[in-house]
Amino acid sequence: MLSEAQVFLRCRECGKPFGHILAYVCDECFGALEASYNPGRLSVSRSVIEARPRSMWRYWEFLPLIDHSKKVDIGAGYTQLIKADRLARKLGISRLYIKNDTVNPTFSFKDRPSSLAVSKALEFGLNSVGCASTGNLAGATAAHAAAAGLPCYVFMPSSVEKTKIKQAALYGAQILLVEGTYDDANRLAALAADRFEVGIVNVNLRPYYVEGSKTMGLEIVEQLGWRTPDRIIVPTASGALLSAIYKGITEAEHAGLISDCSVAITCAQPLGCSPIVRAFRENSDRVEPVRQPDTIVQSLAIGDPGDGYQALKVVRESGGTAVALTDDESLEAVELLASTEGILAEPGGAISVAALKKLLEAGEVGRDEEVVCCVTGSGLKTVELHPEAGNVRIIPPALEAVRKALDLR
Ligand SMILES: *Cc1c(COP(=O)(O)O)cnc(C)c1O
Ligand SMILES: [Zn+2]
Repeated sequence: MLSEAQVFLRCRECGKPFGHILAYVCDECFGALEASYNPGRLSVSRSVIEARPRSMWRYWEFLPLIDHSKKVDIGAGYTQLIKADRLARKLGISRLYIKNDTVNPTFSFKDRPSSLAVSKALEFGLNSVGCASTGNLAGATAAHAAAAGLPCYVFMPSSVEKTKIKQAALYGAQILLVEGTYDDANRLAALAADRFEVGIVNVNLRPYYVEGSKTMGLEIVEQLGWRTPDRIIVPTASGALLSAIYKGITEAEHAGLISDCSVAITCAQPLGCSPIVRAFRENSDRVEPVRQPDTIVQSLAIGDPGDGYQALKVVRESGGTAVALTDDESLEAVELLASTEGILAEPGGAISVAALKKLLEAGEVGRDEEVVCCVTGSGLKTVELHPEAGNVRIIPPALEAVRKALDLR
């Protein structure tokens, strides 16, 4: 058991410190609160980390859980960083890695923040949890809630993929399909959090929740032998994952685990919902909300990104860039990634690969750069988006039919 003084919340805008409490907005300036650590806490050596079990919890000094008996761990994180040579040759780049987060317990990276947030809910003694979701968070929160023995309430737009709804329902969650956008579902979840004292993982537990996603950045630097790549490309909706990856990497530098945290953090969004990309390209400091997202990439359809300003700042500070992709570009990237590397992603997960292709063609990314594409969710939940894909035929049970169909001799 650690002391509470080691972890506390602080306003990201005005710096006002708050204790180790359940809160998410600053009462002075309405800024977002984020987790901070006393410097002593982040002192851990590479070899100590390397000897630990292969899950996101191997980085526990960087995670704001105090009582480790409250940990809800169903195996999130420590996913493979795959050297993608065949895909690299296709795209014309020399060094490419895929951070394969399709293989988490509920098949998206959302298991990382959910594992942490549901653990914190237990630590704060909350009696129920929930989330506002674009699809993947629903399954992740529901699964961790099941493992923690807590009821779970999911708010999501009624337009999300059926598989994602069914998945969360099977873990035992109560699903509320809101007739409206993600932002409508999110607002409703925030009201419910206040009124009924539910621990909504990405609303009132948000400062703790986002810390879970830092582990994706920490794993990337560890798996590269404790150093950063030139660039990391991140599928982006609210901007939380992108910001967390960078926070994790800068904290690894402060802890002395890496000597240099320079890495160009690059944001990929669907064209029909790309408020952060738009602000970046227009050199604006304001992330203008998109009222009606228009994209099949449901998991990234957040019109009013909660961490949009922070993500924009990270992209600029780190020397990265931001790019929007059409739905067709994302769907093609799914098929390219699957057929070259054997990794089946959803369009929202493979959008990082689509972004790399586009940025290479535009000359905005150098062909000699070392790039990591984060692939954040599995394509098994979205196969219906590819009705024409692949080579599927029906044949009679006869060898001659095989010869004809496959043109073998
Ligand atoms: C939620 C999600 C993201 C983006 O997450 P944010 O932290 O909201 O930016 C990326 N990819 C997939 C597959 C997701 O489900
Ligand atoms: Zn403040």
